[in-house]
Amino acid sequence: MGRVAVIGGGPAGLMAAEVLASSGHAVTIYEAMPTVGRKFLLAGKSGLNITHSEDHQRFLSRFGQAGARLLSSIDAYPAAAVRAWAQTLGTETFVGSSGRVFPTTMKASPLLRAWLRRLEGQGVTILTRHRWAGFVDGGCRFETLEGARVVEADACLLALGGASWPRLGSDAAWVPWLRDRGVDIADLRPANCGFDVGWSDLFSERFAGVPVKSVRATSAVGAITGEFVITRHGIEGSLVYAHAASLREHLEKNGSAALMLDLMPGRTLARLVQDLSKQDGKASFSNRLRKGAGIDGVKAALLREFSSDADRRDPQRLAGLIKHFPFRSSARARSPRRSRQLAACAGARLTKTTC
Ligand SMILES: Cc1cc2nc3c(=O)[nH]c(=O)nc-3n(C[C@H](O)[C@H](O)[C@H](O)COP(=O)(O)OP(=O)(O)OC[C@H]3O[C@@H](n4cnc5c(N)ncnc54)[C@H](O)[C@@H]3O)c2cc1C
Repeated sequence: MGRVAVIGGGPAGLMAAEVLASSGHAVTIYEAMPTVGRKFLLAGKSGLNITHSEDHQRFLSRFGQAGARLLSSIDAYPAAAVRAWAQTLGTETFVGSSGRVFPTTMKASPLLRAWLRRLEGQGVTILTRHRWAGFVDGGCRFETLEGARVVEADACLLALGGASWPRLGSDAAWVPWLRDRGVDIADLRPANCGFDVGWSDLFSERFAGVPVKSVRATSAVGAITGEFVITRHGIEGSLVYAHAASLREHLEKNGSAALMLDLMPGRTLARLVQDLSKQDGKASFSNRLRKGAGIDGVKAALLREFSSDADRRDPQRLAGLIKHFPFRSSARARSPRRSRQLAACAGARLTKTTC
């Protein structure tokens, strides 16, 4: 049994420490920030989605190209094991209407507190304000409040997180250090990311923060029903995240990708055409949509934002747009930092943003 330095106190580091300590190793977690699990806690603010209840194959498809590489890990620790693990920490879970799994409290804080207590009981030491600054001969170099410190261990496990939300601790400073030592590191890319849309100012001001519920979005991943949120600059939320890796990969590979929305998954195209055709052609667009299709609020605004006069007047075209509201991609650069761009029908523009 040896001394293991786990560097990074996010969920990956804490889980590594738990597994190592339960195998009898003497584990110390070194964390740069004043407390551990900051991103984990933030994740719990909007409801901590700890896993998904869907079929195993479908679950794997969510990881895109990484699915093959992750297969053995996910097989060894499937969704049911994650739920069982949470339960051992006193956190009951439930399956939401989308199939995603959440703690009944929705938060991460009770889980984290219980987890830290258990680690303490296992003899794991946690040293915060210890920023790893690379390897030096014979050990790991840390910057601490008292100055630099070199730690020797039998093994060192890096769990440093990615590049998103650096204010929570993970700043990806480690990438060049490891590359300089010949470690092959894939470029960091956003996974759960939102997309910018070229909203009009009016739409953005009125609808930022508003959820778009009960829609079906289709991409290469398949058709998934759920909801997303309008943001000031675009769209975010679980339904967008479910497609984000696939869209990103398509953009990188082909320079294009498509996300197709069905704004009324509960009604067939034929039924919509029929119901919209019954509406008085002289009535306002809003009234025809509301009475003929049961659509108002943000969905009506989306249709208004991205349809032509001809679309709005013709029941067939309008029904088609409701059932197949296409966000199409192009690789047109908008700025050096935003090189990928999606363009939706009738002028809507989606651009990938940071995660
Ligand atoms: C708003 C938001 C909502 C989210 N919602 C969910 C969700 O519902 N479900 C879900 O599964 N995931 C969610 N996530 C993602 C989830 O939080 C991350 O996937 C997870 O935290 C990654 O864990 P990690 O341990 O790999 O990295 P991190 O949590 O980033 O932890 C890495 C740790 O390493 C430390 N570190 C970095 N560099 C050094 C260094 N040089 N020396 C010492 N320590 C260092 C950091 O300070 C940090 O504590 C969400 C994320 C955000 C931002």
